[in-house]
Amino acid sequence: MRQGYCKLTGVVLRRYETNEGDIRLYVFFRDCGPLWVVAPGAARGRRRFGGATEPLIWGYFGCYRSPNQLYLREVEVKEDHWGIRTKPNKLERAMIWARLLVKYLLPAHPCNDVLVIFYDSLYLLERDVEEGLVEWRFLYRWTKRWGLAPDISRCASCGKKLVKACWDEDVLLCERCHPKNGEAISCEILRELITVVMLSRKNLVEWTQKKKSKANYALYNEKLKNILERSLT
Ligand SMILES: [Zn+2]
Repeated sequence: MRQGYCKLTGVVLRRYETNEGDIRLYVFFRDCGPLWVVAPGAARGRRRFGGATEPLIWGYFGCYRSPNQLYLREVEVKEDHWGIRTKPNKLERAMIWARLLVKYLLPAHPCNDVLVIFYDSLYLLERDVEEGLVEWRFLYRWTKRWGLAPDISRCASCGKKLVKACWDEDVLLCERCHPKNGEAISCEILRELITVVMLSRKNLVEWTQKKKSKANYALYNEKLKNILERSLT
């Protein structure tokens, strides 16, 4: 990026105030990836920007770029995700995702596909879709993009189409390849795992209104988080 004024679109992942009264934001920008932006003195006295620098705020960020720093000039909020911010469970979940993005995305490395996936997930979270289910969609789509996701339609050992499945560490095996007594994933739940990933977000909202999920998303999401964790090493 060249020196001078620029207008960037993004979402705040992290925010903190320094002892000097500066606000520092880690913003996931479209086309630029995550970058630090500083607003010198913005946390002192008459506070600038109001709530526009809170985590999960989506908007246009007017910045001045010097050779080694991005300075915040103004923020135009497009989405404040009030429906998440006012509900502790949802806010906690969204912040878990934001922290994962902070941890695993490379700074200054564009990652628009993951940005879109994050946006989609916040949209669904705000529309009262069950949190664990949205998290599965978020993590699966993300790891799939990065070529890390386990196959959920074919056995990782023999390659046959999965009807029922069983986890073996972080991959899924068919019943024949995995005869031990692990926690089996029924045919119905396996179909659900695929459906949740594949549907458009509009169709998913309708689908979840009709269906009561029995899937153990806490366990499956843990598997995907482990896969991300191992990708660092
Ligand atoms: Zn098999």
